[in-house]
This record gives sequence, structure tokens and C-alpha cells, in this order.
Amino acid sequence: MPMTPEERKQYNKTYYDNNKIKIIQKGCEKMQCPFCERIIIKNNLLKHSKLEICKRKQQENINTLSRLNYIKYPLETSFNLIKNP
Ligand SMILES: [Zn+2]
Repeated sequence: MPMTPEERKQYNKTYYDNNKIKIIQKGCEKMQCPFCERIIIKNNLLKHSKLEICKRKQQENINTLSRLNYIKYPLETSFNLIKNP
């Protein structure tokens, strides 16, 4: 039987209270940004990915990807560009 929203809320609260330290430690771990490869703190990924330094790299990645796509499938890519410029 599925939980009611109230039960779910209580369950989440209990879970958080019991695992607080583990959850906080996990969020403070360092990781490599998947876009720009800088070392960042896990909990900051969303905030970091909106920064100019990371956004620039994300745009570069998109450009590289579309160039690679063009090299692999020149006809299809140009066809798509004609279809959706
Ligand atoms: Zn980044």
C-alpha cells in the first residue's frame, strides 16, 4: 500500500535524522565537474554548472559535439540544418 503524503513526509524526516551525518558527508565530497573537469564539491554542482566559467565549457562541448556529428554524418547533419535551421 502506498504511503500518504503525510506518512511520506514523516518517513523522509526520520530517514534524514537517522542518516544526517552520512548525507552531509556525501554532499561535501569532492568530484570532477562532468562539463569543465574542475574539482568541485558535490552539493555545489548545480550552482557551479550555472557559472560563466562552466557555461563556456558546456557551450564548447556542444559545439565540438555538433562538429564531430558533422564529420561523422555530413549529409544527415546538413539535411537537419536545412530542415531546422
Ligand atoms: Zn564545470
